[in-house]
Amino acid sequence: MTDISANLADITTSIKAMYDHTGTGNINPKLIAVSKRQPDERIQAALNTGQRIFGENRVQEAIGHWSEKRSLYPDLELHLIGSLQTNKAKEAIELFDCIQSVDRLKLAKAIAREAEKQNKHPDIFIQVNTGNETQKGGCLLHELDALVQECKAQNLNLIGLMCIPPVGDDPSLHFALLKKLAKRHALTNLSMGMSNDYALAASMGATHIRVGTAIFGERTI
Ligand SMILES: *Cc1c(COP(=O)(O)O)cnc(C)c1O
Repeated sequence: MTDISANLADITTSIKAMYDHTGTGNINPKLIAVSKRQPDERIQAALNTGQRIFGENRVQEAIGHWSEKRSLYPDLELHLIGSLQTNKAKEAIELFDCIQSVDRLKLAKAIAREAEKQNKHPDIFIQVNTGNETQKGGCLLHELDALVQECKAQNLNLIGLMCIPPVGDDPSLHFALLKKLAKRHALTNLSMGMSNDYALAASMGATHIRVGTAIFGERTI
């Protein structure tokens, strides 16, 4: 059995240790517990330890996991970290406090329209495809400037950049690139680091760290 409480405590401790080492000060990274494809009893175990920040990568599945719990846990903070279709923008805005996967102009526009309609303004990250991988979500490097401008023009609450390094690459190259790009655009938040590299990400200035299997164990579905 996975000891979710112990995992959360260990990960929090090592993030804190890595962060303190950098001497960059007082930003304590948020640990986002990625609950996609995890059974409800594991999610409940995390809630029972006091964890309140969770990430999901599919809107429909997230509604199943969270629509009822939202009212039970008013301090929940839900992050969408997976690709979003424009026709799901309505449901995404209804459920999520933060959307980390904005990666194209059309999606930025759809989110802005829905946010206006619902008068609900989630935090927004642009996902950057730092490895320029085909098949992968995230805007390409040469598309980033235009997308940042569009988010600002649409009055989105753009707060940072997110990346998922290519499998097999040294993630530190991608984390460093993401940091450089964020700085260039005066964005202060960096969502980077997963189960295999969260400590490294913390040491390189991550403000949001997305960890799934290292907290919950292997995904079941
Ligand atoms: C699934 C997922 C994670 C968590 O992955 P683990 O390796 O289980 O920690 C983090 N970020 C994104 C975007 C994901 O889709």
